Amino acid sequence: MTQELPIIIAGGGIGGLAAACGLARKGQRSIVVEQAPQLGEIGAGIQIGPNAFHCFDYLGVGDEARSVAVYIDHLRLMDAQTAEDITSIPLDDPFRKFYGNPYAVVHRADLHGVLLKFCETSPLVDIRTNHVVTGYEQDGTSATLLLKDREPLKGRFLIGAEGLRSPIRGQMIGDGEPRISGHATYRSVIPTEQMPEDLRWNAATLWAGPKCHIVHYPLKGGKVYNLVVTYHRDEKEAIAGKPVSKEDVAQGFEHIHPRARQIIEHGTDWKQWVLCDRDPISNWVDGRVALLGDSAHPMLQYFAQGACMAMEDAVALSHCIENHGQDIEGALQRYQQMRMVRTARVQMNSRLIGEYIYHPDDAKAAVRNHVMRSMGADDWYRQLNWLYGSNGLDAAAATDAAA
Ligand SMILES: Cc1cc2nc3c(=O)[nH]c(=O)nc-3n(C[C@H](O)[C@H](O)[C@H](O)COP(=O)(O)OP(=O)(O)OC[C@H]3O[C@@H](n4cnc5c(N)ncnc54)[C@H](O)[C@@H]3O)c2cc1C
Repeated sequence: MTQELPIIIAGGGIGGLAAACGLARKGQRSIVVEQAPQLGEIGAGIQIGPNAFHCFDYLGVGDEARSVAVYIDHLRLMDAQTAEDITSIPLDDPFRKFYGNPYAVVHRADLHGVLLKFCETSPLVDIRTNHVVTGYEQDGTSATLLLKDREPLKGRFLIGAEGLRSPIRGQMIGDGEPRISGHATYRSVIPTEQMPEDLRWNAATLWAGPKCHIVHYPLKGGKVYNLVVTYHRDEKEAIAGKPVSKEDVAQGFEHIHPRARQIIEHGTDWKQWVLCDRDPISNWVDGRVALLGDSAHPMLQYFAQGACMAMEDAVALSHCIENHGQDIEGALQRYQQMRMVRTARVQMNSRLIGEYIYHPDDAKAAVRNHVMRSMGADDWYRQLNWLYGSNGLDAAAATDAAA
């Protein structure tokens, strides 16, 4: 009786938990399998566009997610060499009206906590920690998750949401290690009193400089500031969350304005990442097994969309299972068809934005400043509508409803 089997979700990050929420909203039972002894997220912030808010509502966590977000007034772009304003996108009422939702920043742990609470209180979601995924098998009527030192877990179908180094992707696609961008990113969260007074803006601020940039924004109701410092150091090794000294972070920042550089001085407990992504691919479904989130389309952080895309995947997956669930393989194909072009577009744009907006030098930086200064709020709203104006589902869902 394969109908009775639960859905197996590998990975309890934002993507895996969002998938469990969305499926539970459709009355589907799932088991979420996570390698860590406890579910959680590291202490740093992320930005969430209006498209993420469209997803929160669909996933049934809209009010809770809204209550942990910090609503910033602007997306502010500064020239890190001259300390001049380049542009500022207002996020006030006209922005919210245009997209039907706000732009916000949130502590990663708070967002993960909202999804986790939904899962923990749902009778349809079973979370199992200390389970290390190694691969999968399938037989045409079910899919089985293979685990290290444990009995395999059989499900109606299987979602691989174990992130950048997903073993399920490894088996399905076999495209080896992710691409190392060479960009070193350092993160710190500091109390607001430690932030330079003249930079305590209620904005997500990006200081863009040659081969480097600095980002800061308030979190936790304005009690702390999230600092992100990035330098293209041609790093050769992938690193995630390694503690580093202030002196390590500051290396090579002599070419930027002291007003921007001082931010590094104010950070504490810096941790380092080396950013990785992969080239987009057109197929991430194998029969009853599908990838979701960073497992399917890992991207650089420059569009601030990796977690947003993972939540959109969860929305699309839930929709497809509700509408085509009698034919699991067809439903998963439909899910991929709905998501592939949009997520590949964000992956490719994330690289381009890094090169042409975050890190250009000299003439390329002058072009950036010229073009971006010439754009008004309405121009920005129209430019970003393909991304922020949708939960990634609308047009395709309308086709499903008409079919
Ligand atoms: C510096 C930085 C800044 C970012 N900023 C933003 C931003 O502003 N906005 C935004 O939307 N996104 C941002 N992102 C991207 C975002 O963090 C990711 O895209 C998102 O977290 C992906 O979620 P996921 O659930 O797919 O994968 P993950 O978060 O990687 O979760 C995968 C889960 O699977 C588990 N797992 C892994 N392997 C196994 C295994 N073998 N067995 C069992 N479990 C396993 C892991 O422990 C983890 O819990 C940023 C990323 C970085 C690096």
